[in-house]
Amino acid sequence: MARKTVPQAHPGEPHDRGTGQRLNWLRAGVLGANDGIVSTAGVVIGVAAATPNNVLAIATAGIAAVVAGAFSMAGGEYVSVSTQRDTEKALVAKEKWELETIPQEELEELAGLYRQRGLSDDLAHQVAVELTAKDALAAHAEVELGIDPEEFTSPWAAAVSSFVSFALGALIPLVMILLPFGENRVWIAAVAVVIGLFLTGWISAALGGAPRGRAILRNVVMGSATMLATYLIGLLFGVAVG
Ligand SMILES: [Zn+2]
Repeated sequence: MARKTVPQAHPGEPHDRGTGQRLNWLRAGVLGANDGIVSTAGVVIGVAAATPNNVLAIATAGIAAVVAGAFSMAGGEYVSVSTQRDTEKALVAKEKWELETIPQEELEELAGLYRQRGLSDDLAHQVAVELTAKDALAAHAEVELGIDPEEFTSPWAAAVSSFVSFALGALIPLVMILLPFGENRVWIAAVAVVIGLFLTGWISAALGGAPRGRAILRNVVMGSATMLATYLIGLLFGVAVG
C-alpha cells in the first residue's frame, strides 16, 4: 500500500500516520534508555557507597541490574503489546463479520459517525457510501475503532527495542562506575548520569514538542533523587557492616 501523505503540511506537525508512529517508537526508545540509566545508576551507586573498593561486588550487582531490568522491560512490553494486538484483531474480526452480515446497518452506522463529527446528513451519507465502496473494513476500523487493520504493532519488535534501549542507557552508569577512579567513582558516575539524563530529557521533550527546560529539570531531579536515596542506603549498610 502506498502511504498517504498530506501535501503542504505545516512543518513540525506529524500529519501522516507513519511520522506519528516513528515518533512513538523513538520516544519509547528514549524512555527505555532513561529507565536503564536511572535504575542501574541507583544499584551501582548504592553498592559502591557500601563497598567503594569492592569492584567485583559493584560489577556483579551492576550487570545483574542491567540484565534483570532489560528482560523485565522487554517482557512487560511484549505482554502489553500482544494483549493490545489481540484486542485490536478481535475488534477488527468482529467488524468484518458485521460488514458481511449486516452491511446496510454498518453503512448507516458509518454515516452516523460522520454526522457526529459535524457533516450534514447528505454529505455524511455520501462519504460513507464512497468509503464503503473503496475499503469498508479500513473505513470502519479507522473511524469506529481508531485502528489501521494493516498496521498492527509487532510485540517482538517492541520487546527487542525496549531491551536494547534499556541496556544502552544502563551502560552509562555501569561503565563509568567500573573505570579505575577509586574513591571518586561514585561522583564520576553520578556526573555522567546527570549528563545522560539531561540528554534523554532534552530529546524526549523535543520529540514531543514540550518545553525543554522543565522536562530536562524534572528528569535530572528525579534521577538524582534516586541516586541520592540508594547512596544513603549504601552508606548506612557500609557503616553497619564494615
Ligand atoms: Zn462498523
